[in-house]
Amino acid sequence: MAARLQFSIHNSLWFLSSSFSSPLHPFNSRGFHNLKNRLHFRPNPSRAALFCTCKSSNFPNAEASNDPFVLTTPLYYVNAPPHMGSAYTTIAADAIARFQRLLGKKVIFITGTDEHGEKIATAAAARGSSPNEHCDVISQAYKALWEDLDIAYDKFIRTTDPKHEVIVKEFYSRVLANGDIYRADYEGLYCVNCEEYKVDEKELLDNNCCPMHLKPCVLRKEDNYFFALSKYQTKLEETLSQNPDFVQPSFRLNEVQSWIKSGLRDFSISRASVDWGIPVPHDDKQTIYVWFDALLGYISAFLQEEQQANLQTAVSSGWPASLHLIGKDGMKMGKSLGNTLEPNDLVKRFGSDAVRYFFLREVEFGNDGDYSEDRFINIVNAHPCQYYWKSP
Ligand SMILES: [Zn+2]
Repeated sequence: MAARLQFSIHNSLWFLSSSFSSPLHPFNSRGFHNLKNRLHFRPNPSRAALFCTCKSSNFPNAEASNDPFVLTTPLYYVNAPPHMGSAYTTIAADAIARFQRLLGKKVIFITGTDEHGEKIATAAAARGSSPNEHCDVISQAYKALWEDLDIAYDKFIRTTDPKHEVIVKEFYSRVLANGDIYRADYEGLYCVNCEEYKVDEKELLDNNCCPMHLKPCVLRKEDNYFFALSKYQTKLEETLSQNPDFVQPSFRLNEVQSWIKSGLRDFSISRASVDWGIPVPHDDKQTIYVWFDALLGYISAFLQEEQQANLQTAVSSGWPASLHLIGKDGMKMGKSLGNTLEPNDLVKRFGSDAVRYFFLREVEFGNDGDYSEDRFINIVNAHPCQYYWKSP
């Protein structure tokens, strides 16, 4: 049966790199220039408590450095079980982690799940379970798939981990002390699925439909806390222009730069209408917006079992990451057969080596990939079987 499934890992994988000059070419470690991002905490909380700097310097012998090689996958959103896009991104991260270990580097490979927000509460209700139960089930499904795919991660962070909550609250309080959070009324069109206000209404389709979810946005008014992102416009522009390898592939850097150039706007980082989230410090009527909470999972992940949750402890254990792999959630799969590519089925039928090999070989980083079962079988038979698994 020649069932061809059009499969496109659309816009699927890109990188933020702070110390790894060329993640697309990990074999080229010469002329390595090392870029450092550091979070600096100043002792006086009344002044800029938190800021981020980047500086470039040359480390001709980067391998000799004692800094761990830290890489992260997206923290996957548990509104649905893992799909092929998450599997692909994690396989790619695992290959890079293994390569760095072969180079003798201490590697901290972080993955995990992003578990708060209205969409999760809605998904849980639709399954007739509590948000907690729902998150347990889906995050376990991720762990099980990573085990089946032989993913050798070092840390699996769940954003419902109580230590993560402590880190998020401490971080929020520092940003507040830095004068970067203010309270304001906001009224606008809100996409429940994006869990955000659509500030630029020109982007919406007819009937105020969200272009990603194709569902109408609703008018919502809330009293929210805002992050003063606009203050950071120049700093971000400078960082990116001085470090052209920071975002790869380069067309993604161009997208990010032109988005910033169009003008950064402050955005709401709390929700009065969402219960399933981390309460805002000193205002338990609001929860912290899921994006503000989730990305800090990369920092909480550094905490060891026996360590108390403390931002400075976590940050000094390996932050900043050397490489963030970013997979777009909106992976598109043609459904001409009313079918989707299910990573669990694939690995059960063909085994993890075949799945890993096919996707690493066939899907170029940063580009779309095509899957058809015929092609999968031909490639796997023609390559690894011939070279590696041939009986003597
Ligand atoms: Zn949307």
